[in-house]
Amino acid sequence: MYALNMIYIEQIPVMNDNYIYILVDKSTNQTACVDPGVTSEVINYLDNKNLGLNFILNTHHHADHIGGNITLKKRYGCKVVGNKNDADRIPGIDIFMEEGDQLSIGNSVCSILEVSGHTNGHISYFFEKDFALFCGDTLFSLGCGRLFEGTPSQMVRSLKKIRSLPDDTKIYCAHEYTEANSRFANYLTPDDSLLKKKIIEIKEKRSRNIPTIPTILSEEKKLNPFLRFDDKSYLDSIGMDFMSSSVNFGRIRKLKDQF
Ligand SMILES: [Zn+2]
Repeated sequence: MYALNMIYIEQIPVMNDNYIYILVDKSTNQTACVDPGVTSEVINYLDNKNLGLNFILNTHHHADHIGGNITLKKRYGCKVVGNKNDADRIPGIDIFMEEGDQLSIGNSVCSILEVSGHTNGHISYFFEKDFALFCGDTLFSLGCGRLFEGTPSQMVRSLKKIRSLPDDTKIYCAHEYTEANSRFANYLTPDDSLLKKKIIEIKEKRSRNIPTIPTILSEEKKLNPFLRFDDKSYLDSIGMDFMSSSVNFGRIRKLKDQF
């Protein structure tokens, strides 16, 4: 469990490599669950702690993020929060959000960032006072989500929004893909000593089954190939001419898809 300024965050590993997050507002005990793909682990946690559930926060419509919505809504009477523009794919949606909207969970406030690319209508939840971002499958540690529905230019716009958040922002993404992502990052820049150091940390954590998530935005800005589409010295080091952010992002994404 992570104790931030305003919220406690419980990180629950489910299925092969998903994380569900349960947020508890410290001052009111109001709760939210981010992307419940499944339910039993969530119910066990809440029941053990004698907590209810006030909100489900969905980042996007994929089954491993929304699969538990209806069961949890029936059990707890919680409100389902999702993107207004993706409402027909978010089961049980009650609260319709769009870019710039804010939502209060007790006294904790988050704002909505529209971050399409992995899917159309993907959103993130940013808790400004806690420097905590719940970004679903948009940004991963050393990686980013596949472009199932969006274009490279949409994803670049989304990643730039995330990149412009404070450096201290903690990235609570929805998957533990870091070790696999690190192999691709290392393939691109095998001589990067910062990356080598990070890979040792990742391996050490994973060998003890410790999450590598959350990751910190400042570190991702230095090491994540998918945030470096306009970093000319990086592109140079991987033998890529700079064309435009979206062209270069698209090329890096394609290399990863074929890796
Ligand atoms: Zn997804």
